[in-house]
Amino acid sequence: MLARRLSDDPSVRVVLLEAGPARGGPAVADPARWTELIGGPLDWGHAYEPAAPTLHRPIAIPRGRVLGGSSATNAMLWYRGHPADYDAWGEGWDFATLLPYFRRSEDAGRSDPWRGTGGPMRVEAPADPHPVALAVLDAAVEAGLPRIADANGATNLGATVPEFTVRGERRHSAADGYLAPVAGRANLDVRCDTHVVGLEFAGDRCVGVRWRPARGEPGGGVLRAERGVVLALGALETPRLLMLSGIGPAAHLRAHGIAVRADLPVGDRLADHPLVTGITFRAREPLGPVRGTGGGAMLNWCSPGSERPDLHAFVVQGPHATPEVAARHDLTPPVFALSPGLMRARSLGEVRLTGTDPTAPLRIRPNLLGDPQDVEALCAGVEFVQQLGRTGALGAVAAGPAAPDHLLTAREREAFVRLATSTFFHVAGTAAIGPVVDRALRVHGVDGLRVVDASVFPSLPSCNTNAPVIAVAERAADLLRAAG
Ligand SMILES: Cc1cc2nc3c(=O)[nH]c(=O)nc-3n(C[C@H](O)[C@H](O)[C@H](O)COP(=O)(O)OP(=O)(O)OC[C@H]3O[C@@H](n4cnc5c(N)ncnc54)[C@H](O)[C@@H]3O)c2cc1C
Repeated sequence: MLARRLSDDPSVRVVLLEAGPARGGPAVADPARWTELIGGPLDWGHAYEPAAPTLHRPIAIPRGRVLGGSSATNAMLWYRGHPADYDAWGEGWDFATLLPYFRRSEDAGRSDPWRGTGGPMRVEAPADPHPVALAVLDAAVEAGLPRIADANGATNLGATVPEFTVRGERRHSAADGYLAPVAGRANLDVRCDTHVVGLEFAGDRCVGVRWRPARGEPGGGVLRAERGVVLALGALETPRLLMLSGIGPAAHLRAHGIAVRADLPVGDRLADHPLVTGITFRAREPLGPVRGTGGGAMLNWCSPGSERPDLHAFVVQGPHATPEVAARHDLTPPVFALSPGLMRARSLGEVRLTGTDPTAPLRIRPNLLGDPQDVEALCAGVEFVQQLGRTGALGAVAAGPAAPDHLLTAREREAFVRLATSTFFHVAGTAAIGPVVDRALRVHGVDGLRVVDASVFPSLPSCNTNAPVIAVAERAADLLRAAG
């Protein structure tokens, strides 16, 4: 995305290095097949370290490894959350500043004070949502939530048909939106299957990167960057590369024999949204082929005491469960799920190296459910979703609960949350504005090095993270242009 915006200036030469391939194939293009990509060759294959609050269960944290990154492997929901999320980011990153960048990034098919048209990211709402999705929306209204036309508009509190990064029947990734239209541009050199394994310095200035072929072939070298290096490797690989290059917590680097260039809290404050996967209902009728992404209904509401939505659920056309929940319940089709996530979790974690090999596993401790208030809020989310199962609207399509298979008591709810919580795939914050980068996204203590990805989020917005990453990158493009 940034590579496209920077190369809009013909006097700037941009080289984009991507570890994954240029194209992902039919499973990337088909919105209904996104879950197949998890754990496959286009996934970095990271995992969270098992931890007590989630009952020591293994939890994978997928990241896209293909041109377009995770926007080419994600579930495609396009959602900004609440303006106050960004106001908390402070000067230069507050919602009023970011709104023009959200609007500039999108082609939402309409232009109003909130939404943009003609931008690179095509976003569309499903033309024909599944009847189950429509029943979920009616159920939410029956339970007291307002029905809203656009969660990216004036308010996000309520039930709505969400928008997705699709064009017709096909996924529309950041590579489709930003890079494909400028393929062949003379000043933009896109090199795929190229793994960046280190940063090169001259004194305090980052002057290039070290790379090697991503598929293990011999070769590799150093690429010099006259005007600077921008890291956009995502919230797990960016902190890895910084730490391998001597930028990180000094004691941790020294423990791995890495000379310290800048003692910074890289890898700290790792944030993610815990997601209860999911509350599954037995459907009265076969559900037919997956429509669109399998989503089609989104609910945003408040846990007790929250002044703005911190709970967010989406419908899944089929079962949605951790292996541990699936092992204890009958999820034979036809079933559908509603999965509530906590969008302002208090728990924060960390990512650390396990060795100096750039392909070594990372030690990722998200601390999901580490704060008791997060558990309480998710229990409230489960309770609300189970109550939806008792509405007339949902009763019209659901024959009864499948997992959990009965209305849970408070004590059972907590046990279920611990068994069913996984990741919403929204890892961020590991090289945050403030402690690690300045307000222009420059890494403290070194010259010529910026970070432009989800790592820089000072806190996690209460939404899925693709749209915010792209808005941040849009603003970064202006900052870099202004810096010359
Ligand atoms: C399964 C899944 C579902 C999701 N669903 C949604 C959703 O529905 N809606 C939403 O808004 N968000 C969703 N997200 C999250 C969202 O897609 C990401 O937060 C966002 O794309 C992150 O952007 P990023 O630029 O920080 O990193 P990424 O998009 O992960 O990009 C990093 C890029 O850098 C490359 N890279 C990494 N290390 C190196 C290296 N050393 N050398 C060369 N290249 C490297 C990677 O291959 C990748 O292409 C989902 C994510 C996943 C994985």
